[in-house]
Amino acid sequence: MTEPQPTILVIEDEEPIRKFLRVSLASHGYRLVESADAADGLVQAASCQPDLIILDLGLPDMDGVELTRRIRQWSKVPIVIVSARGKEQDKVVALDAGADDYLTKPFGVSELLARLRVALRHTSKSDTGEAVFDLGDLHIDMVRRLITRAGQPLHLTPNEYRLLTLLVKHAGKVLTHRQILHEIWGPGSALETHYLRVYMNQLRQKLEADPAQPRYLLTEPGVGYRLNV
Ligand code: CA
Repeated sequence: MTEPQPTILVIEDEEPIRKFLRVSLASHGYRLVESADAADGLVQAASCQPDLIILDLGLPDMDGVELTRRIRQWSKVPIVIVSARGKEQDKVVALDAGADDYLTKPFGVSELLARLRVALRHTSKSDTGEAVFDLGDLHIDMVRRLITRAGQPLHLTPNEYRLLTLLVKHAGKVLTHRQILHEIWGPGSALETHYLRVYMNQLRQKLEADPAQPRYLLTEPGVGYRLNV
């Protein structure tokens, strides 16, 4: 039996980028549906039931963030944003509006495929989650609340533990500062990003071989953090 080909809807007005996506994705077993504007994209999103949407933020007829909000009113389909470098705030707004991840133009095929795999994996697993997670020399057992590094138990504070397990639950995916703060410290703390920096530094001291050059707990400049898998 062959795996069904995942269908990807590309909503992007720039033909060269659509062509790049068409060529790269078709050769890796994805089926592509293309829209050059938001109005058509919305129709296609409803009619062709894609497994994932790649969405350009700068569309001629509607802002990509607004399109993300509209799709999120009725669909949980993973949405991966493509946007130009230097538009960090736009990416943050799109992620907070419900997009799953982003790619910065120009991006390579391997980066694209990795992001798509992560986004598709999160939907297929839905909320079942996994209780035990291994990453390099780190072992994270969320049932026994036990974290070890190279076999040695690590002692995390409750907030460090919550931060780490939140990133593990979204492994490979970017989380915005706001999403993390909201999950861990509650809705009132949405602007206190310095809390997060402090906890992230502490966590890196405990988890990373070289906290100044983290391998696992990556900073996404101007956006948030990502657990590298
Ligand atoms: Ca565009």
